[in-house]
Amino acid sequence: MSDHTTTLLVAQTPYKPCEHKFVFMRHEGFYYQAGRYEDKYVSTDYFFCEKCLENKEVTKQHSGHPDADIPNWCKVIRYK
Ligand SMILES: [Zn+2]
Repeated sequence: MSDHTTTLLVAQTPYKPCEHKFVFMRHEGFYYQAGRYEDKYVSTDYFFCEKCLENKEVTKQHSGHPDADIPNWCKVIRYK
């Protein structure tokens, strides 16, 4: 390894928190009957940082009476 290369590596090493740039990876959604009068919906989006590869997931949940109106993201799960 030349001196030049060594200098370059040291210069890039100082610790600096990653300014995450999360990229959408995949989505998972499902629903189930939690009881006779309750449907539950769970939706999770998975992301990863394209700089440091850290993973992140964002989950939202909804529960309600089967006959009640549901948010659009629940309809996507239910009628996909
Ligand atoms: Zn990052």
